[in-house]
Amino acid sequence: MSFSLIQKDDKRQALRLRRTLMALGGGVIHIILSFFLFHLNLFWITGEQFYLLLGFFTAGHLSIILAIRTGFNKRFRDPSLTLFQMYWALFCIMVTVFFLKEQRALILYFYFLAMVFGSFRMGRKQFTLCAVIAVASYILTITALYAIHPEYVDIGKETAGAAAFGLVMFGFSLLGSEVSALREILNRQKNDLTKALSRIEEIAVIDELTGLSNRRQIMGILTEQQSLVNRGIYIYSVCFMDLDHFKEINDTHGHIIGDTVLKRFALAANGQIRTGDHVGRIGGEEFIVVAAGANREAATTLAERIRRITESIDFGDGAGDLRITVSVGVTMSRVGETIDDMLTRADKALYAAKQNGRNRVETI
Ligand code: GH3
Ligand code: MG
Ligand code: MG
Repeated sequence: MSFSLIQKDDKRQALRLRRTLMALGGGVIHIILSFFLFHLNLFWITGEQFYLLLGFFTAGHLSIILAIRTGFNKRFRDPSLTLFQMYWALFCIMVTVFFLKEQRALILYFYFLAMVFGSFRMGRKQFTLCAVIAVASYILTITALYAIHPEYVDIGKETAGAAAFGLVMFGFSLLGSEVSALREILNRQKNDLTKALSRIEEIAVIDELTGLSNRRQIMGILTEQQSLVNRGIYIYSVCFMDLDHFKEINDTHGHIIGDTVLKRFALAANGQIRTGDHVGRIGGEEFIVVAAGANREAATTLAERIRRITESIDFGDGAGDLRITVSVGVTMSRVGETIDDMLTRADKALYAAKQNGRNRVETI
């Protein structure tokens, strides 16, 4: 796993742990409330049984925390363990409800809390299923209690209670569905924005026609290269290239062919450079090679290679017997000068190449 992926994973685990600790807060309040209800004599079990029950709940809560702390949760399809935690909360609540003589509604409130946590993660279907299971298990619990201790169950009141619980659960599942739909929209928008941003970053530095670096990118590269030169331990050279009589090509063959020429030249020049070098289009039919670490001779050889391959580009049947040539001005970096100084020198060399008959390389 790469460093950034590990970091992302750590962040996710931290978020999962934070939410689980918040959910544990609900569990702690549930235990405290049960404790008070027990001392109000509202449970029909003995003290020993009651404390055993609290111990069991606590062990469950702590196991979930431990599972996330140790990374054990990552083995599951949903590493947030949301559904598992919701069912664990439901189980704790229903067991408590089962052992209560009365005041059962107080405990049921906690399930609403669990549902709110669920809305961070669950989709519409899961949410509704959770609500249905909650209501069904409440009815089951009360029925089981009625079978053992009918004296603690008032059928009329319990029916009203179950109906109220069902209706509120239904409301919650509607609300939860809305939250999860909203979450989905937000996620989608975030993804779209991320894509748009990387596209913008690309557009900002790439020449659309040729796919080469644009002027902005080349200027950035030159700035970096020059700063290395100014430290006194590095050199680089540039080849300033301008297609010959390009206006004529446009006039004779049209702009579409003109564009094709630019693309083919870009491809050919790009094929001649080494890793670490850069070719960019800095204007209409003007290109630059930044030859990293290259001295004047090496850059001149490279320019000559590009000049020769340019002559040999075959445009096929579509453009008749179209042939193109390029003139190149080469110069090497100097300590302490600006990029403008260096480019002016390269431009002078290019001008000399044009003056001396085009389709040639001049070096200053
Ligand atoms: P020279 O040999 O002296 O360089 O002559 P040239 O005709 O190449 O020079 P000039 O600067 O007069 O002409 C450049 C032409 O490039 C003019 C313009 O129509 C054309 N051009 C500039 N950008 C584009 C482009 O993106 N696509 C096309 N098809 N043509 C372009
Ligand atoms: Mg030009
Ligand atoms: Mg030209």
